Amino acid sequence: MSAEIAVRNPRTGQTDYRFTPPSADALEAAAARLRAAQPAWAALSIEARMERLSAWADAMEARLDEIAAALEADTGRRRVARLEVAGAIASIRGWVQAAPQLAPRADWTPGRSNPALKHSGQYVPYALVGVISPWNFPLTLSLIDAIPALAAGGAVMIKPSEVTPRFAQPVAASLADAALSDLVAFAPGAGETGQQVIALSDLVCFTGSVATGRKVAAACAQRLIPAFLELGGKDPLIITASADIDLAVRAALRGSVLSTGQACQSIERIYVDRTIHDVFLERLIEAARAVRLNWPDITQGEIGPVIFDKQAAIIAAQIEDARSRGAVVHTGGQVETHGGGLWIRPTVLSNVDHTMSVMTEETFGPVLPVMAFETVEEAVALANDTVYGLSAAVFAGDLDEAEAIARRLDAGAVSLNDAALTALFYEAEKQSFRQSGLGPSRMGAAGLTRFYRRKALIANTGEPAPLSAFREDG
Ligand code: NDP
Repeated sequence: MSAEIAVRNPRTGQTDYRFTPPSADALEAAAARLRAAQPAWAALSIEARMERLSAWADAMEARLDEIAAALEADTGRRRVARLEVAGAIASIRGWVQAAPQLAPRADWTPGRSNPALKHSGQYVPYALVGVISPWNFPLTLSLIDAIPALAAGGAVMIKPSEVTPRFAQPVAASLADAALSDLVAFAPGAGETGQQVIALSDLVCFTGSVATGRKVAAACAQRLIPAFLELGGKDPLIITASADIDLAVRAALRGSVLSTGQACQSIERIYVDRTIHDVFLERLIEAARAVRLNWPDITQGEIGPVIFDKQAAIIAAQIEDARSRGAVVHTGGQVETHGGGLWIRPTVLSNVDHTMSVMTEETFGPVLPVMAFETVEEAVALANDTVYGLSAAVFAGDLDEAEAIARRLDAGAVSLNDAALTALFYEAEKQSFRQSGLGPSRMGAAGLTRFYRRKALIANTGEPAPLSAFREDG
């Protein structure tokens, strides 16, 4: 029997939700149920599957308030919670529109090397896709892979984070409303449940930290199943001398502090041309000071609490490390306790360098360390001086200048004259570089096609070759 898990509310610090993870037997039974339903689902035409997904979008819309309320309790933020639900509904509808065109179909093609042979194929979906998601965007990151996996004809088992499990119940209810419960199951639990999901799946989509990603990859390697990993980042923003300083401040601030910096694609390091450094810093400090917490009134302010209490300690330790090595803390700078929740205001740092953990390790908080550079060469070298390669941003006077720099950055996506655009735009394919991930793009057309295995059918229109054609003395 699994032990009950007590869940902390990020606004109050109190336990206000408890759940018991499914037992190993219950998970096995759930996987068997999904596997039993999946072949008929895959056998439907893609248009028929999209009709069912469309019904799910309607069901989620009918339960929007209920799902948003659960997400609000999970994350301590209201507007972003509602945006997550609206975004999930839009994502389902987007795939309903796009999947019929994107779903691969194979025609017979004559062989080039041997005209007697022709080939076609079949795109076979992974039957059971395991999804393991983090706590920072609990709904978005549970469904971002699940929706296209389902669209491709697979069934899905989702393990949400034990830190933010509340949303799963109303989403499961929406799946039941749309008669999709036999194709999608939630497996709420901690790391152990994650490992069980891996043991039951044919492919695993994992979003989370590098450290856990390694464990997931190792477990998948043991089973020789694919692991698509979307991991952490330390995204740099380069601002050149020709940039519009006010627009760069705007992009830097939003890119760094939205969702209290608890986003993989958050701007975590800012490199500014020395000639505009001081004025940029001054305006950034002013803008950061104007950001308000959504406490005590959740309908006010721009940023919510730190969702996971252990993360607050990591953020505080990085700021302290920077301070002890000579960084200047201009705003914020400490974890505040209000009403039992943990909060941190946008924290602008200057006089930073790469000996500080705040410049090299993922912070996952609203911290904006600003460092001057002398040449573009130096800026590119600093931006690339990281074990991560999730995404990056460049702000310059024009797009050509920004693009020339962007092409030199070792990152899977680069925002030009803005920041963190991958959070807003899902159409461009991208892969994570270095330790930020592994596997095909979850964005763009590959977001769907990665859930199919390609099977080749090779036909001989002539006669099979005899063994004698391969005689050693022939
Ligand atoms: P974790 O790696 O701690 O957890 C991610 C998920 O893995 C959770 O559901 C967690 O469960 C589960 N898990 C923990 N241990 C194991 C295990 N041994 N086997 C299988 N599953 C396990 O990440 P966080 O939740 O802290 O999320 C923050 C991280 O996610 C950051 O590094 C962030 O950059 C990254 N991220 C990456 C994104 C991307 O697209 N590249 C997007 C968003 C976030 P539980 O929480 O219950 O312990």
